[in-house]
Amino acid sequence: MQLPLRQPSEFTRIKPPAIQQLIAPGGVSRRRIDGIIEPLPPAYPHHGPRGGYQNPWPEAQPRGFKDFLRWQLVERRAGTVAQSPPLDSLPTREPVIISPRAERGYRSVTWIGHSTVLLQLGALNVLTDPIWSERASPLRTLGPRRLMAPGVAFDRLPSIDLVLLSHNHYDHLDATTVQRIAARFPNATWLCPMDLGKPLRKLGVSQPVERDWWQSVDGGGVSATCTPAQHFSGRGLRDRNRTLWCGWTIAADDVRVYFAGDTALHPEFGAIAARLGPFDLIMLPIGAYEPRWFMRSVHMNPEDAIEAYRALASRTTISRCLALHWGTFRLTDEAIEEPPIRFAQRWREAGLPESANWILAHGETRPF
Ligand code: ZN
Ligand code: ZN
Repeated sequence: MQLPLRQPSEFTRIKPPAIQQLIAPGGVSRRRIDGIIEPLPPAYPHHGPRGGYQNPWPEAQPRGFKDFLRWQLVERRAGTVAQSPPLDSLPTREPVIISPRAERGYRSVTWIGHSTVLLQLGALNVLTDPIWSERASPLRTLGPRRLMAPGVAFDRLPSIDLVLLSHNHYDHLDATTVQRIAARFPNATWLCPMDLGKPLRKLGVSQPVERDWWQSVDGGGVSATCTPAQHFSGRGLRDRNRTLWCGWTIAADDVRVYFAGDTALHPEFGAIAARLGPFDLIMLPIGAYEPRWFMRSVHMNPEDAIEAYRALASRTTISRCLALHWGTFRLTDEAIEEPPIRFAQRWREAGLPESANWILAHGETRPF
């Protein structure tokens, strides 16, 4: 079968300064720019003055290390953390996967857990923020442990063409998983935000493609665009915000999908929909939000996610909403089962169409 991305080498050759298309901030149309990337206007100061990155919106700066200690050492001792459910006690389903590839016109999404999904968009197979490891941590024996097994066993994955990475936190960029995917699917194309290419290459990804906010990459009938997110990055004590964070949109096989990555509520969701929608599927994080005073600037809660969805949803077609970033790793203080319950409640109260709220079980596949 003809690969939709043709040869990855052809796809990954599209890099600055030969970038083919840039979706310029401030305009809704795509413009062809040969040889240059237009500098971002000052209204987009998400590049830090001394290198690195920052959130460009008011009150969007994440809390610092002192506040982290206050949360971890003072508040948590006071018993504010909800109990975790027993391991593997949330509902699961058998995934439905077309292997090695589906036919044109078949589209499905399978929730593997946390922010990892498998998208089958016609003959294109896409993974988002893949993690199959036991812990979301640099250490084998310490750090957030998986509460639910991956909804799809690694060995059951179909041929992977495209991997989307949103940022470098351990629950989104897992070194062992990256190595396993790079070894098993050496021809997959990896898209990542700025400055994440080098660490990916060290993990065995041959040609990662970096993009800045609003920059696209196009090839073989697939268009992917890096979109703004309000978050932060870092894997150690000395690399905070040295690499960018983002969401991604993909247009392929006549569908448009949006993957938000990790994000707080920010003012650009409407612009993402206007420039890159209408979306058939919107994937939003709904978990890891308590305590609010600490998490508000980096993660949405279910109420924020409803607001983001309303800004993103199409007025002309059905935009299904798939809730991610819950039920798999305990990262924060709310009960593991709370995010989807609260999200469904707010969804109903907002009068949104019941059939478009997709809370899936681990492993569950939904065609769309
Ligand atoms: Zn994160
Ligand atoms: Zn996360």
